[in-house]
Amino acid sequence: MIYDVIIVGGGPAGMSAAIYASRSKLRVLLVEKKYCGGQIISSMFIDNYPGFYNGIIGSDLAINFEKHVKKFGVEIVYDEIIKVENNLTNKIFSSNFNYFSKTVIIATGTCVKKMNILGEEKFIGNGISFCVTCDANFYNNKTVVVVGNNDNTINGAMYLSKFAKTVNIVYSKNKFNISKELYKKICLCYNISIIYNSMPYEVIGDIIIKNIVIKNIYTNEKTVLKTDGIFVISDLKPNVFYINNIKCNKNGYIIADKNMNTSVKSIFACGDVIEKQLRQIVTAVSDGAIAAINAKRYIDKIK
Ligand SMILES: Cc1cc2nc3c(=O)[nH]c(=O)nc-3n(C[C@H](O)[C@H](O)[C@H](O)COP(=O)(O)OP(=O)(O)OC[C@H]3O[C@@H](n4cnc5c(N)ncnc54)[C@H](O)[C@@H]3O)c2cc1C
Repeated sequence: MIYDVIIVGGGPAGMSAAIYASRSKLRVLLVEKKYCGGQIISSMFIDNYPGFYNGIIGSDLAINFEKHVKKFGVEIVYDEIIKVENNLTNKIFSSNFNYFSKTVIIATGTCVKKMNILGEEKFIGNGISFCVTCDANFYNNKTVVVVGNNDNTINGAMYLSKFAKTVNIVYSKNKFNISKELYKKICLCYNISIIYNSMPYEVIGDIIIKNIVIKNIYTNEKTVLKTDGIFVISDLKPNVFYINNIKCNKNGYIIADKNMNTSVKSIFACGDVIEKQLRQIVTAVSDGAIAAINAKRYIDKIK
């Protein structure tokens, strides 16, 4: 069977695309490798999605999205796509199966770079955050630790310093490789301290995070820092390994225009996987809707 559109990825962008595509009477298949919801499943509490003025638990929002998609009869399969080939029709491969479609919507998001330390898994989305825009607001007047090693880390720490009482940056080198301007700015933030030559070692807590243990990379000496939360602010990695003929920027994000067209005519992309400024649920669902509507327009044109 040849679908009108195959959506790869069942996060907010993919599910929004599925809703708009199926409501446009397209034959839609959504392929998700794990569970529908994407990154929001790791979010304990979402406080900035319009309509949920009391906030909503990430997994509950994911369930609502999935119910909404199913209501419109979208076919969902749980499978990991390993290759997309584009000829007259698109051929989409997993290890077990080949799928065919007139258009493809890529919505596979990004993966976060975890610290990979003891105690981390338990607190992801509940004290450990990968997103300053999402979670800074939960740390008003609290103490936070920022882990990371690039310009984003510094910008994120400065953003957090407007909310938190104290921000400690744990940095693995003996000086920052950042512009003089940025360095001057960070020195002016009275509530930010930088702990050089150190790596995170262990997260300690019970229901909530209490401490992070850090280790000096030269002396191996461990220090326990009291903290209410940890922000891991390093580069995200877009999930694009399975497509090789599409134009991406130097960081690997797919370049899509305002209609979510990519460099390949019948392939659209949306959500966190594309080059964009703000990676949030609200922007992902917007991209997904636009991608679906433009996939429909493309199909109408080639009829
Ligand atoms: C801990 C955490 C908390 C957050 N909190 C908030 C918040 O409070 N508010 C907010 O607005 N945003 C928040 N975000 C950001 C938000 O979750 C993302 O911007 C949003 O989920 C992006 O949606 P997406 O659909 O583009 O990608 P994703 O959510 O990453 O979904 C991509 C999906 O594609 C699937 N996939 C990947 N590769 C393949 C493949 N090869 N084959 C099949 N399927 C594949 C994945 O399994 C995943 O389900 C948070 C992010 C994290 C990590």
